[in-house]
Amino acid sequence: MTKWVYIFGEGVTDGDATMRNLLGGKGANLAEMARLGLPVPPGFTITTEVCTRFYEDNQQYPEELKGQILAALEAIGKLTGRTFGDAAHPLLLSVRSGARVSMPGMMDTVLNLGLNDEAVAALARESNDERFAYDSYRRFIQMYSDVVLGVDGDFFEEIIEDYKDENDLDLDTDLSAEDWKAVIVSFKAKTAEETGEPFPEDPMEQLWGAVGAVFGSWMLPRAKTYRRLHELPEDWGTAVNVQAMVFGNMGEGSATGVAFSRNPSTGENALYGEFLVNAQGEDVVAGIRTPQDLTEAARIQAGSDKPSLEALMPEVFGEFKDACIKLESHYRDMQDMEFTVERGKLWMLQTRNGKRTLKAALKIAVDLAEQGLISKEEAVKRIDPASLDQLLHPTIAPDAELDELAVGLPASPGAACGEIVFNSDEAEAAKADGRNIILVRVETSPEDIHGMHASEGILTSRGGMTSHAAVVARGMGKPCVAGAGTVRVDMRGETMVADGRSFKKGDLITIDGGSGKVYAGRVQMQQPELSGDFQRLMQWADGVRRLRVRANAETPADVKTALSFGAEGIGLCRTEHMFFDGDRITSVREMILADTLQERRVALDKLLPMQRGDFVEIFDLMEDLPVTIRLLDPPLHEFLPKTDAEIAEVATGMGVDPEDLRERAEELHEFNPMLGNRGCRLLISYPEVAEMQARAIFEAAVEVSRAKGKAVHPEIMVPLVGLKAELDTVKARIEAMAEAVEAETGEKLEFTIGTMIELPRAALLSDDIAQSAEFFSFGTNDLTQTTFGISRDDAGSFLGTYQEKGLLEKDPFVSLDSDGVGALVQMAAEKGRSVRPALKLGICGEHGGDPASIAFCEKTGLDYVSCSPFRVPVARLAAAQAMLAGADSGTL
Ligand code: PEP
Ligand code: MG
Repeated sequence: MTKWVYIFGEGVTDGDATMRNLLGGKGANLAEMARLGLPVPPGFTITTEVCTRFYEDNQQYPEELKGQILAALEAIGKLTGRTFGDAAHPLLLSVRSGARVSMPGMMDTVLNLGLNDEAVAALARESNDERFAYDSYRRFIQMYSDVVLGVDGDFFEEIIEDYKDENDLDLDTDLSAEDWKAVIVSFKAKTAEETGEPFPEDPMEQLWGAVGAVFGSWMLPRAKTYRRLHELPEDWGTAVNVQAMVFGNMGEGSATGVAFSRNPSTGENALYGEFLVNAQGEDVVAGIRTPQDLTEAARIQAGSDKPSLEALMPEVFGEFKDACIKLESHYRDMQDMEFTVERGKLWMLQTRNGKRTLKAALKIAVDLAEQGLISKEEAVKRIDPASLDQLLHPTIAPDAELDELAVGLPASPGAACGEIVFNSDEAEAAKADGRNIILVRVETSPEDIHGMHASEGILTSRGGMTSHAAVVARGMGKPCVAGAGTVRVDMRGETMVADGRSFKKGDLITIDGGSGKVYAGRVQMQQPELSGDFQRLMQWADGVRRLRVRANAETPADVKTALSFGAEGIGLCRTEHMFFDGDRITSVREMILADTLQERRVALDKLLPMQRGDFVEIFDLMEDLPVTIRLLDPPLHEFLPKTDAEIAEVATGMGVDPEDLRERAEELHEFNPMLGNRGCRLLISYPEVAEMQARAIFEAAVEVSRAKGKAVHPEIMVPLVGLKAELDTVKARIEAMAEAVEAETGEKLEFTIGTMIELPRAALLSDDIAQSAEFFSFGTNDLTQTTFGISRDDAGSFLGTYQEKGLLEKDPFVSLDSDGVGALVQMAAEKGRSVRPALKLGICGEHGGDPASIAFCEKTGLDYVSCSPFRVPVARLAAAQAMLAGADSGTL
């Protein structure tokens, strides 16, 4: 018989932490905590398989489920001394969802289940607190009606507000047991009116209803959106965790809270969290009451006058702290925990590996490795390379002019600027229009995920550090200021008042998620410094990886950035990119539009000193590191003059008639410039271009090697080769120029000549080409274009649809198509090396900075990847992880 239900509790635990696929993250961890001997209220987990089966079988439960649940209820009853549905000692339950990975706020929860008119009286008797019992009962009816029966929660808030008005009461806490009894009558009447059925009194019916609602919530639109954004499969399903209730709201000796074993924002090794006295879990997260700090140190730092848990309940605090330490060293990672204190007794309700900012992730990984809790390799594996992008978030420049509007909680680091938008759908639409948005809301909910995604940053006026906005923004790596209480947000009127000033939709603001500050207008920002922890982790990654990491860079500024990020060479210097500025582009245009060799030489003579100067700077900066310079490869349309003014300017420079020049430009027009006269084709049409570039490279090499007293070894790369003969033709010109420069300068030049593999023919005949090429660099941008027959320039208009329809999992221009394009790369590498075993192999298409593509390059045995300077750290880490993954799978 299939086991659908797993029990946890003292001495009866079936599951453990390894069973997360079956029990969900929460269920597996509850079982593990129970096994560790921590105080966990007993309960059971209905497996994710039931959820999957439920959807496969037309929303029917497996037959044996009912019997297994009854048996589990009996087991919990034994441990608690209570009986589900009993009038004298009723067992009350919480019912929560729990998928394989946590999906914050995605799934619904029902608390106090099992309460009815009889059980509430028992609860009042046992707790000796009638008000507490009826308050719990009304919360249950409210939650159950909303989550399970689909009655709009606002109805209940309105009933409470009306009752308070009629009876001259201000706060919920002013309502007595008798008041709640009256409210309960109205609640039930409302639910009956909305659903056409009386509120279910039968606990068993309540339980099935709640279980069904959890399974149903797996398919809610917000859960689907979350899965889509996080690439989680639909068929994982959620588990249901049913657990004996413990009450954090049973008077002043009770409390409930959330805690991280280390600071999730900074990574500091200090217990971090908040709690509320006499409250239930949702009160902490809802952010309506201001929570108190756990530790005295945090309270003092926050300047709070409300006592910490450490001061208020020292024994409970001590026990909790021990539990945190035990859990962290058991899981070997920072834990995010929920706990409740019921009349002085601590209960652990949940633990999981905590979400954290990148800054914290780096610090925690480094600290855990230095504490010896994990290995350095494990630390390297723990950082998602793509997340390093977050390090590139701008921060507010120190000398920026600031017009401060408000201060909220520094919920997620980074500064962001954008137009105010109050609604998530509008934020998404504005993003699609290319505008930068700051999403401003009272608080966010799971319905706002897409809006948060579309925004540069998020500002809320309500909610704490564990509020939805804070947790989700941190996960997304988006700047967020939460709980800026002095900001008045009028969602309906679409205005926001801060610092006595009114802002409307479309006004610009800047938020700083690192300090929690909100500023009017656009504030000057700066790029961040990389922390010591980052450098440390990168060193460990460098110690592990085999692949070298180079950068695609051509300006001195880019080269410096690349070096500062740890680039070990330049893998692609796109020489046509050196010609984008004012004067230079005119000379390039003159060169392209020249009608005669003589005219072209005039233009080339202007370009030579500029090129030489650039190469001198680059060789100088790069010291001994390799530099691959690619000869000119411009798609012609990028360089042809378009406007009358541009044509006039070039015509003047060349001393020709503008009309003639326009005609010449029209002649050069290409239907598909990406496949036109570019790359080596251009160099063959106009060999003097290759000669000028070779001269510039060699003269710069001589100049720098004389100045430094050591040789410079340029790698000269010929683009878009399909025939060996093309490479040979260009190569002959380069070699002839080398001889000429050697004769002129009396210096011996050291250089290599290689080619890019960017065309299927080059890959197919790479053994032939390798006879002439000393290195290959895979230009996977063009190789993807030509393998798929999809134009690089036009792919955007339909590849999105392909992904939406599931025809392609990823954009092949972003992540290498390892089956198709990858097969060509692999073949070219093998064939090339069969002819020239020491052939150096690299990749310089955009894929060189994509972690999945880097893993492919590692497997294929390339020597290096080359990517844009800002992605160098991503590539270093991804290369190390690829190496470790290979070692783990035994392929290395
Ligand atoms: C490539 O094609 O992958 C490449 C690096 O060259 P470019 O993007 O300049 O065509
Ligand atoms: Mg190319």
